Amino acid sequence: MTARPNYDLTTIRQQDLKHHFHPFTDFASFKDTGSMIFTGAEGAYVVDGEGRRYLDGIGGLWCVNIGYGREEMAEAMAQQARQMVYYSSFGHHTSVPAAQLAAKIAELAPGSLNHVFYGSGGSVANDTAVRMIHFYFNRLGQRSKKKIITRHDGYHGSTYLTMSMTGVAFDHIGFDLVGDGLIHRVSSPNTYRRPEGMSEAEFLEHLIGEFRAKIEELGAENVAAFFAEPIQGAGGVVVPPKGYHRRMADVCREFGVLYVADEVVTAFGRLGHFFASESVFDMVPDIITSAKGLSSAYAPLSATIISDELYDVLSVPQAEGAMFTHGFTYSGHPVCCAAGLKNIEIMEREDLCGHVREVGPYFETRLKELQALPLVGDVRGSHFMLCVENVADKGTKALLAPEIAIGKRIASECQKRGVLVRPIGHLNVLSPPLTLTRQEIDVLVDALATSISVVADDLT
Ligand code: PLP
Repeated sequence: MTARPNYDLTTIRQQDLKHHFHPFTDFASFKDTGSMIFTGAEGAYVVDGEGRRYLDGIGGLWCVNIGYGREEMAEAMAQQARQMVYYSSFGHHTSVPAAQLAAKIAELAPGSLNHVFYGSGGSVANDTAVRMIHFYFNRLGQRSKKKIITRHDGYHGSTYLTMSMTGVAFDHIGFDLVGDGLIHRVSSPNTYRRPEGMSEAEFLEHLIGEFRAKIEELGAENVAAFFAEPIQGAGGVVVPPKGYHRRMADVCREFGVLYVADEVVTAFGRLGHFFASESVFDMVPDIITSAKGLSSAYAPLSATIISDELYDVLSVPQAEGAMFTHGFTYSGHPVCCAAGLKNIEIMEREDLCGHVREVGPYFETRLKELQALPLVGDVRGSHFMLCVENVADKGTKALLAPEIAIGKRIASECQKRGVLVRPIGHLNVLSPPLTLTRQEIDVLVDALATSISVVADDLT
């Protein structure tokens, strides 16, 4: 880790408080406490301005998959910046890493998903997917096919459109959403919160029936696509009932609806594979969107990966004079693509997917032990994407009052013990770097267990 540069933390705190408008922030507590200032990071650990070291159970924001401080990542990016920092990829221009990374992603992606459109983040990747889908059906002459179906508690981003597709009700409070009946929602496949008295098998049938009914209600001729995360992330690390994605994809095929797998979190190793759709959930979508682990957050990068079938239609030369007028200044930025390439090289060389498949079940088993603690209603997730749901009553699953801020209180106890976990409402979410050893998993889980017990004692 490099030595601390010469700056004054009090000034930094003031500058941040006065001028840095933070995303997704509760300004009441922000104005009281200011920010935690990160000044260093290495492996699975981050360091704050006072030199305190924390095991990062959040992985930045489900994204620093290969861990922090990789010298060869910095070198690959610096090398590309020196060599040829930028040229637009509009039209007939490209760069070496943009071409090489697209070929590598196509090699790793399932089925005929062979074509990569670059962006700078997950929201942009999903927004791009919607624009592509509308353009696709327009080209096919199916101009009424516009509606998008998403799910309650799904998270797809924070642009106007992708936040409207997001189904996390809390995130919508105080904002407007895209109108015109464009976005429609079906249930979250949350087995813990399934209707009372319904078996898991019945719940699956209920979800499939509901989806089919929704398409029929809207008219298949009006429905363009279904967007789903393989495991819902920000909406509560919701693992669907077995067979859910395959069955939903069957319904999509039956009605000519495109299936978009939002793998912004699940791709690039978090579930032990480069992509989860086929390897874990046994289905091949029409489009996969990916970001985060694609570059392990060393540079902003996303990919909207589409099938040969879609590309063949989208790339027909200027039907009716319409060109595919979609793209961003930073689409295929060479430095970001160089980061993506090196990231994948490291993941393959160190077999990080194999590591996640090997220690992931240990992580799950250790976390499941927390189920015995007071407050813990459910422990769920898979491999390096896990969560604890805290409740007031394990029998009724009733939640604690929001003002108790249970997730935050537990996270702040963890922080005192040198561990970062993410609070989302009444949940605590774990998505650490994929390099975590069994010993580091023990440190993380033990700190969370102690923190939950301490908070539970405080509440009684
Ligand atoms: N999709 C999913 C599943 C996500 O979890 C996120 C972000 O957490 C996004 C999309 C949006 O990605 P970004 O914040 O990079 O725009």
